[in-house]
Amino acid sequence: MKARMFEIECPSCHETFFLMRDTYYVKGMDPIAEERLLNGSYFMHRCRKCDTIFTIYHPLLFRSPKKFNLIMSKKKQIETLDENEKQFVVNDPKDFIRLFRILVYEADLNVVDRLEKYLSNHGERLVEFESFDQEQGLFWFYVDHRLMAVRTKE
Ligand SMILES: [Zn+2]
Repeated sequence: MKARMFEIECPSCHETFFLMRDTYYVKGMDPIAEERLLNGSYFMHRCRKCDTIFTIYHPLLFRSPKKFNLIMSKKKQIETLDENEKQFVVNDPKDFIRLFRILVYEADLNVVDRLEKYLSNHGERLVEFESFDQEQGLFWFYVDHRLMAVRTKE
């Protein structure tokens, strides 16, 4: 894959260091990276000086051939790689993880949006999409860090 060196600054102690990160994945080629994207730890980094855990940002493209391209970039528009692949561009690691889960589990984005709004109870609760069980029709969410499932009827 395409690895690049990034200069990162710890938001807590301001130590700067260099980090080698991949910027391009094709589905199935790096199961460990995919697991870390799914469990949300991919963009987390622990500062080696002060132990603070923080989120790092770097450009990233995840490609699922014939399905989707998920891109993290500050650019709004990116040339389409393949017309058969839907393209999603985000600018935030949290949004990247959320869309990655939705796309990989083939959950309906509109349904997830609607359920998130409902579960958040006007922003009172913290809601994070976790996974979608297609067979059971179950949408799993962390609601205030507690895992719960919602079944939707077609
Ligand atoms: Zn630090």
